Amino acid sequence: MIRITKPSISNNANWFGIRRLTVLASFVFTSAICSASAAIIFNGGVSGGGGNMISPKPPVSENDPEIVEEIVGKAQTTVLEYIWQKRNEYENNRLPESHRAAFVPLFEADNKIENAVRSTRLHIADEHACWDSQHRPVDGSTVTKDSNSICISAYNIAKKADLSDIHPQSAALMIHEYSELVGLSEEQAIKVQARALEDLRSK
Ligand SMILES: [Zn+2]
Repeated sequence: MIRITKPSISNNANWFGIRRLTVLASFVFTSAICSASAAIIFNGGVSGGGGNMISPKPPVSENDPEIVEEIVGKAQTTVLEYIWQKRNEYENNRLPESHRAAFVPLFEADNKIENAVRSTRLHIADEHACWDSQHRPVDGSTVTKDSNSICISAYNIAKKADLSDIHPQSAALMIHEYSELVGLSEEQAIKVQARALEDLRSK
């Protein structure tokens, strides 16, 4: 359970101070993501480039969009940690049998997913859905105005998922999009996303 308390409105100075800090933190974080090294040429997936959360737990109460945005931003770190852990299992022959169908294609892809995560900008849509190549609204997509970025819709996530489920769902959805960027098919990307979701929910 992630609990973020909003400072009381009566304490204005403090509130603005915290707001400024939050904005600064997001800026530093975004800059880190944006300071991408040389662009990597990815083999594009053949699907529409979109992705949706898998069976999100419906929200118990309405989500605060700003809190959702913050959780989505933080999920990037979780994605890298998770990928490192799975790569380690793969290289040391410790991938559980049930995970091989999902992760072997990912780690045998021509491009490394870790590089995709580091060199791709994360665009968090806070007022609308993301769109796939057929202009269908989706929760996440590799189709963006920028050639080197993925879109994750905090707006959709806030509407569809309970606060307790947002962190694992956003991380698993990002993994789906990065998997497509390194060349996995839609079906393969969904397999990786489903495994990741299961693991991340149990953490
Ligand atoms: Zn997809």
